[in-house]
Amino acid sequence: MAIPIFILCGVRENATFIKQFAANDEDWLITFFQTSASVIRHLKKHSADVIIVSMARGRFKDLARFSRFYDAMSHMPVLMSGAEHQRCAAEAFIACGAQGFGSCDAKDSLASVQIVRDLVLRFRLHSQLKSSAVRAEVTLNAISDGVIGADTDGNIDFINPAAEVLTGWSKSSATGQPIGKVMSIDLDDSLGYEPHPVQMALQKRSTTGLSAGAVLVKRDGSRVDIEDSVAPIIDYRGNLTGAVVVFHDVSVERAMKVKMTYLAEHDYLTQLPNRVLFQDRLEQAVRAARRHRQRLAVMFIDLDNFKHINDSLGHAVGDQLLVSVAKTLTRSVRASDTVSRQGGDEFVVLLPTLQVDEDVEVIARKILQGVTEGHQLNERTLYISASIGISFYPSDATNVEDLIKHADTALYDAKIKGRNRYQFFMPAMNAKAVERQLIEADLRSAIDLGQFILHYQPKVDLSSGRITGVEALVRWCHPREGMISPSRFIGIAEDSKLIIPIGDWVVRTACQQIRKWGEQGLDNVCVAVNVSTIELLQTCYVDNILAILKETGIAPGALQLELTETVLMSDLPFNFQVLSRLKAAGLSLALDDFGTGASSLAYLTQLPFDVLKIDQSFIRHVNLRTDNSAVVAAILAMGKSLQHCVVAEGIEDSLELGFLRQHGCQEGQGYLFSRPLSETQVTTLLLAGSVGIPAGSSAIDRPRQSGTQHDRLA
Ligand code: C2E
Ligand code: MG
Ligand code: MG
Repeated sequence: MAIPIFILCGVRENATFIKQFAANDEDWLITFFQTSASVIRHLKKHSADVIIVSMARGRFKDLARFSRFYDAMSHMPVLMSGAEHQRCAAEAFIACGAQGFGSCDAKDSLASVQIVRDLVLRFRLHSQLKSSAVRAEVTLNAISDGVIGADTDGNIDFINPAAEVLTGWSKSSATGQPIGKVMSIDLDDSLGYEPHPVQMALQKRSTTGLSAGAVLVKRDGSRVDIEDSVAPIIDYRGNLTGAVVVFHDVSVERAMKVKMTYLAEHDYLTQLPNRVLFQDRLEQAVRAARRHRQRLAVMFIDLDNFKHINDSLGHAVGDQLLVSVAKTLTRSVRASDTVSRQGGDEFVVLLPTLQVDEDVEVIARKILQGVTEGHQLNERTLYISASIGISFYPSDATNVEDLIKHADTALYDAKIKGRNRYQFFMPAMNAKAVERQLIEADLRSAIDLGQFILHYQPKVDLSSGRITGVEALVRWCHPREGMISPSRFIGIAEDSKLIIPIGDWVVRTACQQIRKWGEQGLDNVCVAVNVSTIELLQTCYVDNILAILKETGIAPGALQLELTETVLMSDLPFNFQVLSRLKAAGLSLALDDFGTGASSLAYLTQLPFDVLKIDQSFIRHVNLRTDNSAVVAAILAMGKSLQHCVVAEGIEDSLELGFLRQHGCQEGQGYLFSRPLSETQVTTLLLAGSVGIPAGSSAIDRPRQSGTQHDRLA
């Protein structure tokens, strides 16, 4: 690139000097001017790297004029040139701003050109530096990050406008102050004392940053979440000259992070901790329990028949119920315990420090009671129950996974045992859980493979011995296991919903049997079938039953449906509607296992039952056990006043029978009269019409039962 030079002189004045430029390889662009005014004029449109002022003709005798000329040149270097003897005179010009003197004597011309070259280079470099400094300053003033520079003692020597706003300190008041005063940082206490990051960068001579969660305390005491990075400034000689800190406000990001973390760890519906947070809390609790040699408990809670509420009343109602249950659970435990929703209708409670294991039972009972109390959702009250499985650290498991797994296994057990209860984990349950899986797998194909059969147990008029009807009891003829009792598979069938096709098969088979007996001359044998509440909850249940009755040509009065007290839980209005339709169609309804559930008598009277079947646990030794005899006498009295027929289940000996007869029980069922029998055996008994009961006697002979071994169940 050509180097433009303006020379204020005549060509002749400086012939040798100029010749040197021409002889040089460099591309000098030389313009000559006679007067300083013409230079100034020219400079308005053009620029030069250097202006050489010849002293040959005694220009600028007046130094003041030179000064004015020099000022007009502003940022351009000016070199004086003349004969060697003028070097001294040049000093005065140099004092006024000129950058130096170049001799134009022939012998010095080479050196003079070198002087010009150096001057050009120096000024180019200088202007480059100047423009980068300006650029840096503009940038620092424009960016939104706060930037503060400090010297090696940590005192502020630079602060940009963003840092002024962030700290609340103006440039003038901040400059010279210690960094820790202007940029006062509050750290999370748990991290202990940490020096100011600028001090740290100065000490370590390396880049540092603030710990997470740092807060800047502004001059007015208000607080801003910040993030920063600090770098030491080290010059080309390797000397530390200060440090610069860059920081910015992260309040919005930090608030967002807090919100995101909350969302990631909590259930959107109930706001309870979710599976992720629960897992973390349990891990911490296990570690603490190990350290302090304490016990802790995990409770797995599942709502009974929740799916039905969701299916029949809609997800919005289901959601409201879950929220209400969540509140109940939270109310039932201490603030230091964790209640979490795992998903669906599953909740888990962590009781991290236990004084005594009995505390868990108190809480479990409180939860069961709270959940069954009824949930007021808008205008309706919903009734539901829950089952709870409980495991303990360290006796049941010492790690998080097994604690949860075992509580879940215990929950399963609580469900099988009839729901609405709590159950502690026992190692034998694991084997049971495996068995359940095997049974469920086989159960799926059992209907198609024709592996179910019905046995029938007669119901007897306790005063005459006349058979009043039979109860159909399903049995599963398993190819490997033999005859499997319903108590082993009904619960599993309910959980897997396989009870729906099984129940359908039972009703259809029972109706076909009634017709078959009719064809054999046994008219109007009343058959009772057991129905799970889950079956009842299908929307098409009533239509299905009526279709089967029509299909088999059976009078509805010949079919009795036995339901348990779970029908009074869950969705009572819906169940009431279903039972009323069945009743109106002419079927009779029995409440089975009466006395074992938590049903309210108030609801019982609203439902259209014809028969109450007293659970066999009350019949057992009813003549000897005063508690049982009081319950049975009360149920009999209540049945009488409600005009329900009362049937006693599981009568095994004549003393029990004696008591029942004495208290006016009309009907009964039990091994004393007959075990459940195969179709052939029961047909023989039905043809006979009665079992022998000595009139007025409390001690009777047990009838001979040739076929009872057929009902030996696995
Ligand atoms: P459940 O309806 O209360 O039936 C009475 C149970 O007591 C029957 O047991 C019967 O064999 C037994 N039992 C009768 N008399 C006596 C006695 O004197 N002493 C003793 N110890 N037991 C007696 P099973 O057949 O094992 O049935 C158990 C339960 O399984 C039934 O109780 C019923 O809840 C359920 N179940 C049976 N068949 C069906 C079915 O087809 N569908 C549904 N959903 N459940 C069924
Ligand atoms: Mg029954
Ligand atoms: Mg029963």
